[in-house]
Amino acid sequence: MITIDDKRKKQLREASSRWKKRKLAENPNFFREQYQKNLIHRQDYERRNKDRIKTEVLTYYGNGLFACVICGESRLHCLSIDHINGNGSLERKRLGKAGLGFYYWLKKQGYPEGYRTLCMNCQFIERNRIYEERLAERRLISSQ
Ligand SMILES: [Zn+2]
Repeated sequence: MITIDDKRKKQLREASSRWKKRKLAENPNFFREQYQKNLIHRQDYERRNKDRIKTEVLTYYGNGLFACVICGESRLHCLSIDHINGNGSLERKRLGKAGLGFYYWLKKQGYPEGYRTLCMNCQFIERNRIYEERLAERRLISSQ
């Protein structure tokens, strides 16, 4: 059954197609030129959008503060999401999410537990602490 909405969508699609054909007939490079013309605006928009989602997610996992939960560092480019139990690389592989995609995923999942905002210095210190702990556990197991 064709609804009024379907009919309207079809009309709009056809009108759009006619418009594109007319523009290409007037200037074969029309869409290429528009792409170049809007490139700077688009990059600017994407950068602001990226900063906005990162700020939102990092603030949530910073317990309401846009800062590292250990030392208080608050510069955007120093902060990242820490997997509290380690295993961040395993999770990135499992989810197939890294970088910004991971921030969007966290928000979409309703901010699951097990993460926190850390600065990179604290990330490296934590990573080393977990590594040392696991090494000590393995030594203990192998000595039994
Ligand atoms: Zn820190």
